[in-house]
Amino acid sequence: MTTTAPRDEQLWSRCDGCASLLYRKRLRRNLDVCPECGAHARLDAPDRVAHLVDPDSFTALPDRAVRVDPIDFVDALPYPHRLGAARASTGLDEAVVCGTARLGGHPVALAVMDFRFLGGSLGCAVGELITRAAERALADGTPLVLVTASGGARMQEGALSLMQMATVSQALAGLREAGLLTVSVVTDPTYGGVAASFATNTDVVLAESGARLGFAGPRVIRQVTGAALPEGFQTAEYLLRHGQVDMVVPRHALRGRLTALLAAAEAGRTRPPARPAPRPAAAPPAARPTGDPWETVRTARHPGRPTTLDYLETAFDGFVELHGDRLGADCPAVVGGVARLDGRPVMVIGHQKGHTTAELVARNFGMASPAGHRKALRLMRLAARLRLPVVTLVDTPGADPGVTAEQQGQAAAIAENILALSVLPTPVVAVVTGEGGSGGALALAVADRVLMLEHAVYSVISPEGCAAILWPDSSAAPQAARALRLTGADLCRLGVVDELVPEPYPAAHGDPAVAAELLGRAVAANLAPLLTVPPATLVRRRRQRFRRFGAARAAGPPGGTVQARAAGPSDGTGPAGAAGVPADGRPEVA
Ligand SMILES: [Zn+2]
Repeated sequence: MTTTAPRDEQLWSRCDGCASLLYRKRLRRNLDVCPECGAHARLDAPDRVAHLVDPDSFTALPDRAVRVDPIDFVDALPYPHRLGAARASTGLDEAVVCGTARLGGHPVALAVMDFRFLGGSLGCAVGELITRAAERALADGTPLVLVTASGGARMQEGALSLMQMATVSQALAGLREAGLLTVSVVTDPTYGGVAASFATNTDVVLAESGARLGFAGPRVIRQVTGAALPEGFQTAEYLLRHGQVDMVVPRHALRGRLTALLAAAEAGRTRPPARPAPRPAAAPPAARPTGDPWETVRTARHPGRPTTLDYLETAFDGFVELHGDRLGADCPAVVGGVARLDGRPVMVIGHQKGHTTAELVARNFGMASPAGHRKALRLMRLAARLRLPVVTLVDTPGADPGVTAEQQGQAAAIAENILALSVLPTPVVAVVTGEGGSGGALALAVADRVLMLEHAVYSVISPEGCAAILWPDSSAAPQAARALRLTGADLCRLGVVDELVPEPYPAAHGDPAVAAELLGRAVAANLAPLLTVPPATLVRRRRQRFRRFGAARAAGPPGGTVQARAAGPSDGTGPAGAAGVPADGRPEVA
């Protein structure tokens, strides 16, 4: 916001977004967000601290910036003159304010940058102060919240300022090793060395509405490339679409989002001894007579069937969605984030389909891209660091079968998730809620307990794909569905699935609320006994669980050829010829 004239300075401001003349007191009450257009004016560090933390809870760290001019830098002015002027105009020692506070009742260490102070540039003192804030978090066992606003490294301190990117990053690594949550709140602008270190290598990256973040600034990129930049380039919303930030948060919602994240992290660290199973266990595994498996396939694909986001609204509470793979994309076919189940924080990750054609298209029919698998991987690892159990909801026809997905390493992305889940040191409960399609499903289903909804299916390949390869044509899909043994009852018999979750009559789409209740109960009941198992034991048992599908299964009953093949699932290499290299040399169909 621009003040209009010295005389009116205290009274009126002009919005940089819409040029409205705004009564300053009203603007301040609105956290310096324009009530007309929503533009977020920059906040200085003291105002930011006051807005974020609980009243009267902030204590500045005792450390003070020492006066440094390590390389005797002089441009138009000697560097110490610039420092002195910045100190005089801001009333701050340096471009960051650090301390401890409570936020939503949770203790945190906090470092808040101030762009007014030499463009929030990262010099030796700023790096040192943020590092000390991180060390304080480590000593106190609290999360660290960083609010960034910076043009980049401080040129006047030469390569020593470049080194601060590493200094602060390794302090964050220490918190990561200790399982302490780190969150950055990216505010406008965050560029260069700050963007390429602690603004983006924290566990969770929130971008305030209107913030811009990038390594190189737009002017530099335009000069180098000579090309026009895309609409909204480097804005928070652009970064969200490209998988760079977990969420875009308007200023008035920042405290609430941070509080939810801090609450989840705190619960992970202070996990109480498991309560007795909080709700009655689900009905015993359904031994109901099942109809034709092809009918089950059709039911599992019913467009009215509850999706992962539906279950997050109903069976879980307080879902805070985390986005992006941090590499370049946010796959809409996979959703995930922190939520509560029976009051206990968990990380939920699931495939997302939709109920209408438009929703299905927008979600790529629940077929994850490599970015989706990498988002899932990031969230699984975050859950393990924060000691949160993982609940996965599997509902996918399979991983995305496309050229781009292959170019971006679909196979390796699935493989990495299977590996990561095999050694993840936190409880994992997977539920196949609809279609469990081949490797794309398994990438979320290497779990301590694998549950399956009564009318879900789980298979190495779709019946159509199987029919097209092994039968004369895909019209034999109903026969293939029967042969594949893809229903819950079959998979319980084979030991692939541990428990069936009953559905209301005629199926989950008929009464989504009851379906959610049954799913919530089953997950809670299966999770409870896992919470007290030491992580090493969990991992050992999980590996034993999946070890049992090897030679013994192939050598003896139960299970004929089809079952034996079904025990070696992957997205293209299940039964001979599921994709790629058909046994009989016919072209690929899967
Ligand atoms: Zn405005």
